Amino acid sequence: MPAGRLRPGLLPFLASAAVAVAPSLPAPLAAQVRPATRAAAAPASRAARVPTPSEALGLAIGADRVLADWPQVQRYFATLARVSPAVKLDTIGRTSLGAPMIVATISTPANIRRLPQILATQARLADPRGLSREEADRLARTQPAILWVNCNLHSTEIGSSQFAMEFAHALATADSLQRTLEDVVVALVPSANPDGMQLVVEWYRQGVGTPFEGGPMPWLYHKYVGHDNNRDWYMVTQTETKHVTDALYRTWRPNIFWDVHQQGSNGMRLTVPPHVDPINPNVDSRLVRGINLIGHSMAFALEQAGKTGVGDGVTYDLWWHGGARSTPTRHNMVGVLTEAASARIATPIELTPQQLTGAGRGLPRYQRQVNFPSPWPGGTWRLRDIMDYEMIAGVALVKLAASQREAFHAATLAVARDMIAKGTGQRVVIPRLQRDPGAAAELVAVLRRGAVEVDSVDGAWLVKLDQPYAAHARDLLEVQRWPASAGDRPYDVAGWTLPFQMGVDVTFDSTGRSTLPATPPTSAGGLRVRCEGNVVRPLDDSRAWQWTFDELRAGRAVRVRRFTSAPSAAATVVEPAAGSASACTAAFADGRGGDVREATTTLDRLPRIGLYKPWTASMDEGWTRWLLDQRGIAYVTVTDSLIKAGGLASSVDVLVIADMTLREAKDGLSANAAPARYAGGLGDAGLAAIATFVQGGGRVVTFDKGSEVALAAFGGAPVRRVAPAPRRQADGRARDDTSGTRATAEVVAPGSILRTVTSPTHALASGLADTVGVYFTNSSAFDVAADAPVSVVMRYHPDATRLLMSGYLAGGESIAGKAAVVDWKVGSGRATLIGFRPQYRGQSWGTFKLLYSALLGLQ
Ligand SMILES: [Zn+2]
Repeated sequence: MPAGRLRPGLLPFLASAAVAVAPSLPAPLAAQVRPATRAAAAPASRAARVPTPSEALGLAIGADRVLADWPQVQRYFATLARVSPAVKLDTIGRTSLGAPMIVATISTPANIRRLPQILATQARLADPRGLSREEADRLARTQPAILWVNCNLHSTEIGSSQFAMEFAHALATADSLQRTLEDVVVALVPSANPDGMQLVVEWYRQGVGTPFEGGPMPWLYHKYVGHDNNRDWYMVTQTETKHVTDALYRTWRPNIFWDVHQQGSNGMRLTVPPHVDPINPNVDSRLVRGINLIGHSMAFALEQAGKTGVGDGVTYDLWWHGGARSTPTRHNMVGVLTEAASARIATPIELTPQQLTGAGRGLPRYQRQVNFPSPWPGGTWRLRDIMDYEMIAGVALVKLAASQREAFHAATLAVARDMIAKGTGQRVVIPRLQRDPGAAAELVAVLRRGAVEVDSVDGAWLVKLDQPYAAHARDLLEVQRWPASAGDRPYDVAGWTLPFQMGVDVTFDSTGRSTLPATPPTSAGGLRVRCEGNVVRPLDDSRAWQWTFDELRAGRAVRVRRFTSAPSAAATVVEPAAGSASACTAAFADGRGGDVREATTTLDRLPRIGLYKPWTASMDEGWTRWLLDQRGIAYVTVTDSLIKAGGLASSVDVLVIADMTLREAKDGLSANAAPARYAGGLGDAGLAAIATFVQGGGRVVTFDKGSEVALAAFGGAPVRRVAPAPRRQADGRARDDTSGTRATAEVVAPGSILRTVTSPTHALASGLADTVGVYFTNSSAFDVAADAPVSVVMRYHPDATRLLMSGYLAGGESIAGKAAVVDWKVGSGRATLIGFRPQYRGQSWGTFKLLYSALLGLQ
């Protein structure tokens, strides 16, 4: 049935509901329509009055090719909250595109009435400081467990957004659950990314009945970050992440967090916990046991219901931070993930037994084993199956949370108490006076966004580690070392140490003594600039860049003054160009002599920036756009057709190509997958147009694999990209090398911070330290032809044993000492290739500066 059409006989149930009401109701339904009252009715009579999602929306929810969109989901929850005293609806904020984000709280009517008191008690139990054991026990005795259900974070994983409505209805109406709900409060987020859900549903509806039904959407399912919205949970950069983070750690403080996802189509039907090794050192063992218990309870219930294909112990590890379900485990909560097999959005798929595959280490072959005792035999798989599996898992989880209510409270309390005891006397000092005070302030803001308490004292911020959420602080501030014993390589994020990524100095201090630096910081190579006159800002400080962009936006010119002492010392400051220059002297902080030269550049305006946007939904393009918007830097979006039309130079001075493979950019979506206007990519014509643009005086700036696009356009460049070995899939098979180039390096570091050495006297290194941590996601290095007129702005550290700062690295020898950032003249223009992502997921403040100077074209 086409989406959006009313099914006969399932007309909107309540005249008061904000849905299209048919002019006349069929007699049997009309007889039931009566004004909802909030009288505490018995469960049985409530069940008779609370409409199902299908009834309320006039849609066959869960049927093939039928999806409720976000306004419809909202409308259903509004109806539910209006007619059922068991449901309370809260708006927790607005999305990036302005839609409301909602949480439905569902329990018994009595619990809903006393919800403020329940949440206050939960807050007390989450922070046991000053709480006696007797008092804690007394509170826990009558306190329901709080379960948070986070649906549809990933928008194409659409099943849970539809399941959420049926789940809410079941909780609000099923007689069998009413006793259970006395002991559980469920906080249900029907979609953690409503914008994306709406985009996906609209795209899907357009495609139904065409050759592109269920095919890829040519843009991100979020204003900026798409799928990376599940990598944002410690940095908390996006609006949606902020709202849910606030709700979790400042309002609801759930004992259990369930993130409801979908995976590929060919493996397990539902993957539940236990998750896999390694366990992060900041995740308490009691939480690990809670996670395992939940997975087994879900699987047990599914098995009894005759649902096959349920398994655990594959793919999803307990190491990484930044996922929706991993951040709660650093806040003393039990965070679990389920991953259902996907249909083609809402279109059913057919799978033969031969198409079913294992999942690597935990399930090398698709066959019966202890963590997968009843393999699904193949056949038809549809949206309804996903929702049914999730319903059984959800009801099992609610029952478990009820029956083990006191145990979950006890675990939360014990973990928090141990965290506080472990951290007694320990603190982390973040000096205010350091190379990049702006980044230091942002690090403090990040910690606070994650509900970490940070004290502000004279000259520094202090993170005392005897606080309940100290595990979160530790995990963001410590160095990660992926354990060799884990038996497998990390899939993705292995290290994230924020002080390294952000270029912020912090000190772990267990002595109680002050460790503040005695002298002001200096720039690269130890050079210090002193000025009189104008207000002069050092570009070491992120705030100076913001000031620069603000001035240019306001139409005021700025003067960039670079002081260099070859080969390795430099300091760069900015000041207003109006008025005479300040009197500045640059000298080495340690008193050593050296010939210091000054070069001055005046920037009158921001270059015209064009950001290339392929129709392959590039997350890195989205993160770039996010950063530019954050800084108020103007840009235009450049698509395939605009580039292929030629004449780019009339609208753009610098073309930015984010991290994407040559194939993504050049070939784009295939004509079989998407309508013609989105298919085909840049093609040869687009590459030629880029070459013409640069030859004629334009600049191109690329990130990571995006360098392949520039190199393919130029042909015969003096720079060659050293592509890492293709990432191994979980099953050990090499994935196709999508870059279109042969792998030449054996480096494996799918998400680590590597040490680079800058050439500080190069203008593109303005504001960078001597050594900089860069975020490396199996990223790029460059070979430069001998004697080629190419500036190497940054190199990977020449000592392979010193490359890794945090995370995991194998095969570092193949990139040690190689160029990480190169810059050279191409015709009348210029190419700047950055081998990594300088704006990595909005986190790498230490290398944002490289992006800024490349955009400005400093030289
Ligand atoms: Zn997902």
